[in-house]
Amino acid sequence: MKVVYTPAHLLHDPHSEIEKGTVHSPFEHIGRGEVIREVLSADSRFEMLSPSEWGIDVINAVHNPGLHRFFTTAWQEYQDIIGPSREVTPEVFYRPSLRHKMADGVEPASITGRLGWWCFETTTPLTEGTYVAARGAVDTAMTAMQLVLDGERAAYGLCRPPGHHATTDLYGGYCFFNNAAIVSHHVASTTGVKVAVLDVDYHHGNGTQEIFYDRDDVMYVSLHGDPTRAYPYTVGYADETGSGRGLGSTVNVPLAARTDDDVYVNALADAVAKIQAFGAQMVVVSLGLDTFITDPICDMSLTTEGFRRSGEVVAALGLPTVVLQEGGYDVDKLGINVQSWLVGLGV
Ligand SMILES: [Zn+2]
Repeated sequence: MKVVYTPAHLLHDPHSEIEKGTVHSPFEHIGRGEVIREVLSADSRFEMLSPSEWGIDVINAVHNPGLHRFFTTAWQEYQDIIGPSREVTPEVFYRPSLRHKMADGVEPASITGRLGWWCFETTTPLTEGTYVAARGAVDTAMTAMQLVLDGERAAYGLCRPPGHHATTDLYGGYCFFNNAAIVSHHVASTTGVKVAVLDVDYHHGNGTQEIFYDRDDVMYVSLHGDPTRAYPYTVGYADETGSGRGLGSTVNVPLAARTDDDVYVNALADAVAKIQAFGAQMVVVSLGLDTFITDPICDMSLTTEGFRRSGEVVAALGLPTVVLQEGGYDVDKLGINVQSWLVGLGV
């Protein structure tokens, strides 16, 4: 299987994140991308490729162009105006109800205000190289997509930073640009192929759901920790099924703590049947391995073998498949878990 990787991800190198009332080492760090690269490049069944450059139009086709504009200058602007800070994190968030009964807010002038305008939480610092790394993740995803459009049965994009929490207008949850949504929109809008995004990350992909919520050309199916206890808390409930033309093309499967391989694989088979019924002609997998039994920030109980079985369930669809990296924070096992999932899919 062809694997798309770029060392540009090393440029997004936060040393801290603000979570649970503390500042600590980030769970999402460069070691994640490197351990996956090491394991896959040591396995002759995988062939490593560099991404080609896709430009910003594919990003602005999905995101508010203001979000991209913000990333191009935000870190440097903070250094120039507020002062030196390795990591830049918002401290004041724009909430529409702040202007309840008034006209809608507009993007603030100050960098402090703009951070809270474009970001929705505190675990996703901007660093000096974040923008270049996030562009590299988009190029990685798009190149994996092109390989599949050109005839590969499947390809894997080692995207870092991940993408599925980024909405049309907002970044957060370690995500800046929504790699899976950018790819899926590009395929659906330029080829007419019906796409299903299958999100198997532990966390609900609120960004991907929001981007496609009212569309019938891209389906969004997610298995995830129930948002009654799991990030992102406010989105990802079973009764969210799409709106307008998109009614019925969003499927959420919230799962209990300590969900094991057997329960998960059965739920995945049900989800895959819905993708078949939708008539999808291509699958984009948001691959998170944070459902793993020893993941430090999640509470499910999948094993390395469960990931292989999951890949097999998706392979049974018999559709061209683009696999894009999302989360997974047990870094010691992340490489072999990705490998196992992809081997199940078929290499
Ligand atoms: Zn996750």
